[in-house]
Amino acid sequence: MKIEVDVGACEMHGDCVMEAPEVFDLQDDSDVVTVLNDTPPEELRAKVESAARMCPVSAILVKD
Ligand code: SF4
Repeated sequence: MKIEVDVGACEMHGDCVMEAPEVFDLQDDSDVVTVLNDTPPEELRAKVESAARMCPVSAILVKD
């Protein structure tokens, strides 16, 4: 699993952080979401896919 974020689309809504804090983070010194791990383990797939669905601007792409 590989995660890509369209940083141009991200509006820092933070839904992804609520869904998968192991993978996404919002940091004070950044205007876009921070991906802590862009190749997370399979056990986080459900959380990551939920984060992608929850993103209001569909900025998260999950590749197999
Ligand atoms: S939910 Fe989408 S818009 Fe919000 S911080 Fe995450 S990637 Fe960015």
